[in-house]
Amino acid sequence: MKSYKFIVNPIAGAGKAKSLLPAIEKVFKEQSADYDIYLTRRRGDGIEAAKKAAAEGYEVIVAVGGDGTVNEVLNGIAGSGAVLAAVHGGKGNDFATAIRMPEEIGAACTALLAGRTSAIDLGQVMDRYFINSVGVGFDASVAERVNLGIKFFKGTSAYTYAFLEKLFSYRTVEAEIDIGNGPVKSSPLLVAVGIGQAYGGGMKIVPDAIQDDGLFDICVFDDSLNRLKLAYHFPKVFSGKLKHLAQVSMYRVPELKISLSEPRPLHLEGEILVGDKMHFTLAPLGMTVLTGDGAAGSG
Ligand SMILES: [Mg+2]
Repeated sequence: MKSYKFIVNPIAGAGKAKSLLPAIEKVFKEQSADYDIYLTRRRGDGIEAAKKAAAEGYEVIVAVGGDGTVNEVLNGIAGSGAVLAAVHGGKGNDFATAIRMPEEIGAACTALLAGRTSAIDLGQVMDRYFINSVGVGFDASVAERVNLGIKFFKGTSAYTYAFLEKLFSYRTVEAEIDIGNGPVKSSPLLVAVGIGQAYGGGMKIVPDAIQDDGLFDICVFDDSLNRLKLAYHFPKVFSGKLKHLAQVSMYRVPELKISLSEPRPLHLEGEILVGDKMHFTLAPLGMTVLTGDGAAGSG
C-alpha cells in the first residue's frame, strides 16, 4: 500500500477542508494505511510542506482544499516523482473534478486508497507550474478583486459583485499573442489557457480541453462586445457554450507567448501574478495524478 501525506488548508472552503479530516482519518485508520496530516499556516506554506513530504518519501501527496491548495502542492512536488491527489475541499475544486475525484469524502477516500494513477500534461508560466487552467485579463482581474475581499458578500455573491464591478471598469490593453506563427496584435478582454476544461469553480472556459494530448486549449475573447451584452452572454461559460460567440477564438497549441503593453493580472489556480510578458510552456505527461471514478465536468 502507498504512503499518503495530506496537505490541508484549514481555511479553504470557509473551513470545509478541515471539517473533512475526521472522515479521512476514520477510513485511513480502519485500513491501517500509512498516512500523515499537515495543516498549512499561511499562504505558500503548502509548497514547502509538499516539497518536504516528497523528499521524505511519501508517495501520494493529497491537497485537501481548493484549487489554490492543489497549486501549492503541485509546485512543491513537480519533478519529484510523487503523485498529486486532491479532494473537493475548497470554494473552487476544478482540478478535483477534472481528475474525476468523487465529491463525497468516503468515496474519495476509497479512490485514494485504490491508488489508480495516470500521467497528464504539466504547464508552466512565470516560474510557476499549473495543472489545470490560467486566465489573463478580465477574468483574472475579477478573481483578484474577490481575493482582496468584498465586505458583506461571500462565495458566489462575492464573485457576482466583483464581476459586475469589473465589467464596467476593466480596461483592456494592447497585446501581442504568439501561438506559434509569430506575434499578432489585438486587445483581448481575456485569454484563458487550459490543460483541464474549467476554472473559477465550474466555468468551462475551454470545454474541449484534453489533459493528456500535449497541447493547451486556448480561448481568446476579443473586446468587441459591449459590456451589457457581455453581462448577458458571459454566464454561458458555465455550460461550455461561450465558445460559440463570434468574439471567441479557440486554439490548440503546445506553447504560447503573450506580451502586453502594460502589466495585467494573471490568475493561476488561486494565485494572482502580475506581468506583461507571459511564456506558457507544457511538459507532455509531466505530472502523475491519482484519479477517481466520479462524475467528470460537474464543476
Ligand atoms: Mg490538452
